[in-house]
Amino acid sequence: MILVGLTGGIGSGKSTVSLLLEGKGAIIIDADAIVREVQLPGSPVLTELAAKFGSEVLAADGSLDRQAVANIVFTDPDALKALNAIVHPAVGKEMNRRMIEQRTTDRVVILDIPLLTENPREGLQGKIVVDVPVEVQVERLVNFRGFAEEDARARISRQATREQRLETADFVIDNSGDLESLTAQIDKLWTWLVSLPQLPADYEPITPTPNAGPKSPNKNT
Ligand code: ATP
Repeated sequence: MILVGLTGGIGSGKSTVSLLLEGKGAIIIDADAIVREVQLPGSPVLTELAAKFGSEVLAADGSLDRQAVANIVFTDPDALKALNAIVHPAVGKEMNRRMIEQRTTDRVVILDIPLLTENPREGLQGKIVVDVPVEVQVERLVNFRGFAEEDARARISRQATREQRLETADFVIDNSGDLESLTAQIDKLWTWLVSLPQLPADYEPITPTPNAGPKSPNKNT
């Protein structure tokens, strides 16, 4: 297995890059998708969240009302800590399970982690950063994702800066251009990825330290 992290600001194009890499044959472990999965109705995480925050965080159909949770933790750092303490271990465990599932293969495994700069992770062979100017980020969030401009800017300002992300990047994807330009860069990225050495078959994923939770709720909380 070759194991690399993928990160970038909100709306920078991580999912688009992931899809293109999947097309090349990569296995994508999507942290956001796993957050949603571990909180599905009937899950121990959802039960714990309801016990901690009350039934107001449950929607009428029994699923997690993400907006209700976001409203609670937005102004209450202790509540955010409690939320992370419930959700993060389950997410970490599932991510590790998926890495272990691949460790005896020769696949390129991409960990798509939106807050990887904010919460660094050991044991990766490199970090891909999808980079866009803030104005492009805002424009795409408003035009394609239905965000109000003010909300887009507020979310961006709560994340690491573009400079902070670039400082620790091993491979930078410039996603300020069109999809054709992005696709051309994916070809180069893939050449780099497959040039990395294979990890040993008994590779043990390193779980980030528990107190390194996000400083602000992400879009899944
Ligand atoms: P999030 O942080 O919310 O998970 P993301 O980083 O995964 O977002 P994407 O969903 O891949 O970002 O991209 C955000 C939006 O911008 C999507 O609607 C996507 O189709 C569009 N997009 C991505 N790259 C480009 C591009 N090069 N040109 C035009 N649109 C793009």
